[in-house]
Amino acid sequence: MSSVQGPVGILALQGDFALHAQLLSDSDVETVEVRGAEDLTGVSGLLLPGGESTTIAMGIDRENLKDPIRNLAKAGLPVFGTCAGMVLMSSAHLGLIDMEVERNAFGRQIHSFEADLKIDGLDGPPVRGLFIRAPVVTFVGDAVRVFAEIDGSTVGVKQDNCTAISFHPELVGDARLHLLALGLKQWPELPASS
Ligand code: GLN
Repeated sequence: MSSVQGPVGILALQGDFALHAQLLSDSDVETVEVRGAEDLTGVSGLLLPGGESTTIAMGIDRENLKDPIRNLAKAGLPVFGTCAGMVLMSSAHLGLIDMEVERNAFGRQIHSFEADLKIDGLDGPPVRGLFIRAPVVTFVGDAVRVFAEIDGSTVGVKQDNCTAISFHPELVGDARLHLLALGLKQWPELPASS
């Protein structure tokens, strides 16, 4: 970690960005809302929140944020996407993680559910995962590590400095994954994908 740590940027075009800001501030992490490229100056990490991925993607295009985000990620900035944020990180959108996702993958009849998730390498109790019209990962490239699954479906992945999950720890006040994914704590060694 560098000695001068900038705030964590939270993409604030649509979705539950304010909850992430609250969770991080409760963990004494400074944040800044990102609405345009100028807001990315000096950030130490970037969070892409849940919401409506189609709407957020349109906002990213409108604000010309695609290239700045891609360039920062390429330069090693920690980027963390949750739910719609996971969709945005996939190969079909920003392409920050070599993966394909299926939106709203858990079916129409159960738009939302909760489950305890065992996260590979994470100490303490399981993460209570809230799944709200959640995506699942249907393909990952060789460079991607899977760290969370539910009933055989991939719901947590990491490729280098980029991490994505399909659930909402901000809704249950659990910042453990945020701190790891945003480079504020050291990730434990993840087992190689099989
Ligand atoms: N289903 C939404 C989408 O694909 C994501 C839902 C969420 O972020 N909770 O955009």
